[in-house]
Amino acid sequence: MKLGLLSESPADEAALCLLLGAVFGTTIEPVQPPLRARGWPNVMQVLPAVMHHLQFQTDAFGLVVVVDSDDTRLHDADHADPDKFHPLCRLCQLEMTIRRARKRWVLPPDRAPLRTAVGLAVPAVEAWYLCGRDPEVGEAAWRRDRERDVVRYTRRDLKQRVYGTMRPSLPLETRRAEEEARRLARDIHLLEREFPNGFGSLANAVRRWRG
Ligand SMILES: [Zn+2]
Repeated sequence: MKLGLLSESPADEAALCLLLGAVFGTTIEPVQPPLRARGWPNVMQVLPAVMHHLQFQTDAFGLVVVVDSDDTRLHDADHADPDKFHPLCRLCQLEMTIRRARKRWVLPPDRAPLRTAVGLAVPAVEAWYLCGRDPEVGEAAWRRDRERDVVRYTRRDLKQRVYGTMRPSLPLETRRAEEEARRLARDIHLLEREFPNGFGSLANAVRRWRG
């Protein structure tokens, strides 16, 4: 299946490819957008151009975007009303950017709109890579700790635990991301359960693409 993938690093996109392959039960063939992003603000900047490219220049089945929440507000089900969005929630900001980009296009009558889905890694994608290996790490625990102002692990700790360093090279980042994604792909429901708002909702959204 041909998919466009947009995330904060090419390493994350490599892992996402494997995770989505597990959701769909098929191999994902990434369609390379003309622009790559590095970090959150950059994802938002390139997203409209990436969407336009995939819609009009490729036969990609859809686009999946995943970003880290870092310390921003976490997405909740009550943000779901498409007429409302939470201005501090990155997932809502991505959805809004996607809606605005679509409004600027006129599609030929025979052309289906590009399918899109967004995911939010809480607090960073390294938490997904530790799912099932590190019982301290999970979306619910992070949310609970945030409410109580408890810090059990930081994003730097997560990097250290996944890569053995806080500043991994891109090849190391990619190798570790792919290793953990391969492990997670063997039981993708675990990641969906442990990260229900950030990954579970993304998995459900892409499953709906197929009707
Ligand atoms: Zn939200």
